[in-house]
Amino acid sequence: MKKLSLTSKIFVSLVLGIITGLVLHPIKGNVFVETYLINFLFSFLGSGFMRAIRMIVVPLVFCSLTVGAAGVEDVRKLGRVGVKILAFYLGTTAVAITLALGLGNIINPGKGIILSDIVTSKVSVGESKPFVDILLGMIPVNPIEAMAKGDMLQIIVFAIFCGVGISLLGDRVKTIKKGIEEANNLMLKLVELIMKLAPYGVYGLIAKTFTTLGYSAMVPLLKYFLGVIAALIIHYLVTYQGLLVLIARYNPIKFVKKYASTMVVAFSTSSSNATIPTSLKAMQENFGVSKSISSFTIPLGSTINMDGTAIMQGMATVFIAQAYGVELTMGNYITVIFTATLASIGTAGVPGVGLIMLGMVLTEIGLPLDGIALIMGIDRLLDMLRTVVNVTGDAICTLIVAKTESEIIEVEEDSFGSVEAESL
Ligand code: ASP
Repeated sequence: MKKLSLTSKIFVSLVLGIITGLVLHPIKGNVFVETYLINFLFSFLGSGFMRAIRMIVVPLVFCSLTVGAAGVEDVRKLGRVGVKILAFYLGTTAVAITLALGLGNIINPGKGIILSDIVTSKVSVGESKPFVDILLGMIPVNPIEAMAKGDMLQIIVFAIFCGVGISLLGDRVKTIKKGIEEANNLMLKLVELIMKLAPYGVYGLIAKTFTTLGYSAMVPLLKYFLGVIAALIIHYLVTYQGLLVLIARYNPIKFVKKYASTMVVAFSTSSSNATIPTSLKAMQENFGVSKSISSFTIPLGSTINMDGTAIMQGMATVFIAQAYGVELTMGNYITVIFTATLASIGTAGVPGVGLIMLGMVLTEIGLPLDGIALIMGIDRLLDMLRTVVNVTGDAICTLIVAKTESEIIEVEEDSFGSVEAESL
């Protein structure tokens, strides 16, 4: 196992977990299997890993959102362009997650798998409260208590306040700003360390699930996997191409040809951050977007605009809720849309973080985090695909803003055909 990459190890664990589960399923009532394997070994591996992930969720959310909100300073400097790009980034993310929730409710990925027997954590999804109470409940009267209780919305609100405060104070709190940025780097390092345990955690949870449920656990996982891919494709084809044609008046085929190299980088690295250089180059050289716009919107988008990630989180929430037999209320759905949009701001553009941030969405509506390990084994490929959607979204929103601001210059005609760009 030593020479394999982490991704391959997680995948091997998934397969081994499934095989172990299928072999043990017929004898699951055996005392040894039940006492020592299901309730001891598999539980220890799976729950131990999940506890380590839970450990990181609150500090990670707080640090990453504070850092994100502190960056609003640059948005202010850009005035109208800043507001426009933020509106497009957040608006499209909200659409993406709504689409995933809708599609999830059509294909019902989690129906037919009953996890409440497998996982012992308590499931209590917040009851729907009057809207005013939901709004009031977001304001923490005691931020420390909010963190201790893991109340995500309250933590988010506090983090945004801190971030905005930091940005307003500017240089006067540069040490605090640096400190939070460093704390954020530390949290990302911890994610990396905890992910080293993923192969064991995934093995434990998958083996436990399949030992208990047998083959019947296969179909829901496959449905979830295909559901995410379908939602990614629909979002790209309908939402993004729609915006591209209707607002930017750009030919979608031409767009793909000019942006293909960045899409390939996104797919192969699963990291929005890693695409910043190629994406910037493509925006400026292939599309003729002015430097003043693209040098701001592309790095910002790689940090805060994650529609593909939001789609995975929406589908995963439906999957996990259904697998625990929990009916989500309208209030829960609105909370998911809201939290996942904010989670997308807090998700760093590096591989796998979206899945950890899913913990924030699940916690907010009271679903157990153990479901995360179930889908972790198949997350790698989805991460590659959703990162393509994440960065393509940045490029299309940038193109729209540049077009509406007349910030596109004529670029030389090349093998891609003429460019429908306006000169300044
Ligand atoms: N890999 C994604 C990105 O960099 C983030 C995630 O969903 O994990 O865009």
